[in-house]
Amino acid sequence: MTTPQEKTTTTAADRKKKLYDVSFYHDWCKACGICMAFCPREIILADRAGKPEITDPDRCVGCRFCELHCPDFAITVSERTPRRRRNDV
Ligand code: SF4
Ligand code: SF4
Repeated sequence: MTTPQEKTTTTAADRKKKLYDVSFYHDWCKACGICMAFCPREIILADRAGKPEITDPDRCVGCRFCELHCPDFAITVSERTPRRRRNDV
């Protein structure tokens, strides 16, 4: 059971959470699936051509496993600025 104080702490932590954007250069991608296999959040899925797409970028933790393991340098991970969620207006 959470106390009101714990709730406040969680909300503040959420606000400070860093957000990341992950972009794929599909012309260089050979649809090997390595990035999908390595993502600890399991947010990289294959599109109809077998190439990667991100389902929920706000869940990315910025570990860069995908970027580091892509054999074709087709992935770029960057911290999102300003720190806002994609659906904010
Ligand atoms: S690891 Fe690189 S080449 Fe392989 S599917 Fe992912 S983006 Fe494409
Ligand atoms: S940086 Fe990490 S969490 Fe984000 S998409 Fe790549 S592997 Fe997944």
